[in-house]
Amino acid sequence: MKLYADYHTHTVFSHGSGTVMENARAAAAAGLKEMAVSDHGFAHPFFGLKREALPALRRSVEEASRSTGVRVLMGIESNFVDGRGTCDLKEEDYDKFDVFLAGVHVMVNYRDLGAFWNMGVLSPAVNSFGGTLDGKVKSYITDVYVNAVRRQPIDVITHLDYRVFADVKEVAACCKEYGTYIEINTKKTHMTDEQWHAVMETGVNFVIGSDAHSPDRVADADPAFALMQRVGIPAERVHNLDRLPSFRFAAYKRGQR
Ligand SMILES: [Zn+2]
Ligand SMILES: [Zn+2]
Repeated sequence: MKLYADYHTHTVFSHGSGTVMENARAAAAAGLKEMAVSDHGFAHPFFGLKREALPALRRSVEEASRSTGVRVLMGIESNFVDGRGTCDLKEEDYDKFDVFLAGVHVMVNYRDLGAFWNMGVLSPAVNSFGGTLDGKVKSYITDVYVNAVRRQPIDVITHLDYRVFADVKEVAACCKEYGTYIEINTKKTHMTDEQWHAVMETGVNFVIGSDAHSPDRVADADPAFALMQRVGIPAERVHNLDRLPSFRFAAYKRGQR
């Protein structure tokens, strides 16, 4: 079992400590064929990518590809900004990116009160006290994920259920239907084995992502291997092991032309 690609890495373009080149060198040292930089989406008030920085990011990505031999892709970890699951990566931005990751983040400039309250305030507050939320809040956030996957060609849902409360099985079933991967995040290992079993039962496929905020964590897959063994996720279901995934966003863009 060999990791071929890591699509979830942060750089100095958001709040990672490494440059694109440093992450790519780490990816090359780990023997990866592909890597993406996936800095935080535009709606993140402190760490979000700036649209005016995108040409410089593209240049860094191309330079890192040339110099390391790893195919470096320009990705984003987009935020859901409202109750309908709208992402802060907009249709007019699509041409500028190669990979589309998305997840719930707490500190986001939300566009409606429901999203701000449920995802930005209530969930993280209850979560930090070790509590859980069912009922309305959980179904609201589940709908955000599901609508996001239906309405936008998201490649990977990052750290599902992290600091929020969602019906992970329902989200995974939707991802299976639309060809979106569920990430096995090796930095945020919050989901229970029971949740992973429920996700697995839907038949959805996975990619491992390091969520590296420093070059030394790029390509860290060990926690994912441990999870796979414990929960019984077969390697064939993890599409960046011994192979490269086929991504929905690229296919969507090809269809647009
Ligand atoms: Zn994230
Ligand atoms: Zn991240």
